[in-house]
Formats: sequence, structure tokens, C-alpha cells
Amino acid sequence: MKLSIEIFPPKNGDTREIATSFLRAGASHISVTYGAGGSDQLLSKQESLSLAILGVPVTAHITVAGQTRQEVDEILSVWHRAGIRRFVALRGDGDGPGQPFTPHPDGYPSSIELIERIAQMGALQISVAAYPNGHPDSRSPDADLDFLKRKEDAGATEAITQFFFSADTYLRFRDRCAAAGIGLDIIPGIMPVFDFGKVASFARKCGEPIPSWVADRFDGLEEKPEMHYQVAAATAASLCERLASESVSRVHLYSCNRVDLTLAIARLITAGLERFGKLDA
Ligand code: FAD
Repeated sequence: MKLSIEIFPPKNGDTREIATSFLRAGASHISVTYGAGGSDQLLSKQESLSLAILGVPVTAHITVAGQTRQEVDEILSVWHRAGIRRFVALRGDGDGPGQPFTPHPDGYPSSIELIERIAQMGALQISVAAYPNGHPDSRSPDADLDFLKRKEDAGATEAITQFFFSADTYLRFRDRCAAAGIGLDIIPGIMPVFDFGKVASFARKCGEPIPSWVADRFDGLEEKPEMHYQVAAATAASLCERLASESVSRVHLYSCNRVDLTLAIARLITAGLERFGKLDA
């Protein structure tokens, strides 16, 4: 199974070291998130650039939220000059927690115009976000799919999903995309439960349900980090194994910069997975 691994630029860490360890573990690309604003955004711009200059295969995330067109175009052209040709093109979120997205008066109005702009630059890959359980801003599941189709028509080349915990959620979504005439590869986004409390809070914000069996697995493990870690690795790997048995050939791991956990999962899903479940292997 192929994998891309997402990191966020650490404030006090060595991005290069993290990226290198993920590449050694089999990641084809390191995708670098774009900060929601201020110093986080600056750090993202710099880290994607520095990794590219060092020769790391980078996929740079970019959002339009809170920025003028000129600001977005400037960073895109700096990255382009540094050889970055793979992007995750996003709208981003509103200013504060729970705030609705409002386009900057001089900015790109939505992800669609950003995708068109990146496509004009001759990008090799334009990934966009997809939401198997629907995005909280969508009027309906069908409207959400219509919008994903618009992203494809604007130039997106693949979609990476929001995280989910049940393979059936992904498989149903993939079927719905195909039925809606969406030809993009739908890459499952896998979030290891590195800390149940944090992941549950993140899931609530994104409107993602956490199945009770996932909560049960981590119940009582708050003070048992080693067991929590092992259960997290096994849970993410078994989800990937089920997806592999349904012809999924690539996943996107949201590492949240948890290096050891991500490396363990990467090993579980890249080594020997093609033989998984075959009695004679
Ligand atoms: P869009 O898809 O453009 O819009 C969100 C939803 O709103 C759509 O799915 C659609 O249902 C509805 N909608 C929007 N506009 C319209 C319209 N004109 N007509 C009808 N419906 C509409 N955030 C960051 O800040 N930095 C990151 O690096 C980052 N990386 C991410 C990577 C992935 C793989 C994912 C899944 C998310 C990431 N996010 C990131 C979070 C993302 O910014 C949020 O989920 C945000 O709320 C939506 O961004 P989007 O590009 O999916 O929005």
C-alpha cells in the first residue's frame, strides 16, 4: 500500500528530521499543512519551501482564508520557483472557533478559484478535501458531492478525505462519488487516535462521529500511554487492512507529528500487507 504522510510545521522541532523518517518508512510525499493564520501561516510557508529546497518531495497545503489574492499568489509563485508542483488546495476556516468562513474582500472567494489558479500554474497534483460524512457547511450530502464535482471540474486531480473510523463510511462515500460521476481518486485520510481526548475534541469540531467501539477501545487508557499507543497503531492498521481488501492502494496518514506511532502504522501497512489474509502466504 502506498502512503502520503501529513505533518504540521513544528514550532520547536526539526521538520527535516521528521520528514526524513517518514520518507524512510515508505511515504511517497510529505504533505505540510498550512497554518490558520499569523505566525503559523508564516511557518508553513517557510517549512514547505525549506523542505523543497532540501529535495524532500513536498505537497504544500494552502488555504484562501484571511488572505488577499496577492498574498496567496505570491507564496504559490515562491513555491513554484522552488520546484513544488503538488498542492492541497483548500478554502480554510473562519477566523475563530465556530466562526463561519467569510472570504477576504480582496481574496479568492472559495476553494474553486484557488484550484483554477493552481491548475493554470501547471501543477502536477492538486488534491482537495472530501467529506465522507459531509462538511458542516454543506446544505446536504448531495450538495456536498456537487461541490466536490465542481472542484474536479476546476482542475483537482485527487481528493483526500476527512478522517473517519469505519471503513464502511469510506466505501459508501466512494460509491456515491462514482455514482455522481466524480472520477477523482478518493484517498482515505487516516487519523491515528494518538490521544483519545484530543482526537474526540477535534472530531466534534469537524462534525465527525466517533463510533462507540472506538471510544470503548480507548476507555481507561488515559494513564496507560504505552497501551494507548499500541491500541492506536492496531486500530489504524486494521482500518487500512480492511481498505486494502477493498482495492484501496493508497492512504494519507494524518501524523499529527506523532513520529513513533506513525512509523509503527506505516510499517504495519506497508510491510507484507499484500499477503495479509492469505493463508498460504
Ligand atoms: P470547501 O470544500 O471549499 O468548502 C467546504 C464545504 O462547504 C464544501 O464541501 C461544500 O459543502 C460547502 N461549500 C463551500 N462553498 C460552497 C458553494 N459556493 N456552494 C455550495 N457549497 C459550498 N485546514 C487548514 O487550515 N490548513 C490545512 O493545511 C488543512 N489541510 C486539510 C487537509 C485535508 C485533507 C482536509 C480534509 C482538511 C484540511 N483542512 C486544513 C481543514 C479545512 O480547511 C476545513 O475542513 C475547511 O472547513 C474546509 O476547507 P475545504 O477546502 O474543504 O472547503
